[in-house]
Amino acid sequence: MSQEQWSAVDRYLTDTLVPSDAALDAALAASAAAGLPPINVAPNQGKLLHLLARIQGARTILEIGTLGGYSTIWLARALPAVGRLITLESEPKHAEVARANLDRAGLANIVELRLGRALDTLPKLAAEGRGPFDLIFIDADKPSNPDYFAWALKLSRRGSVIVIDNVVRKGAIIDPESADPSVQGVRRLNKLLATERRVSATAIQTVGSKGYDGLAIVLVTEGP
Ligand code: SAM
Repeated sequence: MSQEQWSAVDRYLTDTLVPSDAALDAALAASAAAGLPPINVAPNQGKLLHLLARIQGARTILEIGTLGGYSTIWLARALPAVGRLITLESEPKHAEVARANLDRAGLANIVELRLGRALDTLPKLAAEGRGPFDLIFIDADKPSNPDYFAWALKLSRRGSVIVIDNVVRKGAIIDPESADPSVQGVRRLNKLLATERRVSATAIQTVGSKGYDGLAIVLVTEGP
């Protein structure tokens, strides 16, 4: 199997199951035009997040890592009119592009974008009494994944779902000696997921237009 074949199958699945959408297409075009890196989730992955949020009946969502707001749009569209999504982004340029994309998608009233390093903005959210969130999507700098998971757990309730992207890293996660801080971040995260008694978690490998990677899904089983 090759990247070419994974991309062709992703194209087929997306053409068949994920109809083209003006706001989402415009968000990707504006992100590319502004020079943002193409590290957003793929369309069929965006729809997976959207469906997970709907299956969960989510009314509140927290996203760590906005980029141009592509996954944000997918997630926010799963919310009812009274729903709320808070997304955290550290790069001012990414935040500016995301705000315009969210405006164009008609989601400015539902989505609150907080600019700053997530390890600074997360404690502020907690201090403001925000949360618990029904669904939390972690997709920012991977070395901080263990810290993001700890914050996600603090901002959860029993029944919250936490999704963490890019947890396989082309298979590099099986190397305990890896010098890659992202690989070490994922390995430390997995240790936490395995030992934290308040959650039940799994992870799967994925292939597609975004290459070979994976996704962890966590259910919070204890808490308020
Ligand atoms: N979730 C987005 C999507 O699928 O459309 C992609 C997010 S991209 C993989 C990761 C984003 O996290 C980047 O925009 C990056 O600037 C942001 N980021 C990196 N470090 C961060 C930090 N410490 N705090 C907040 N955001 C951060």
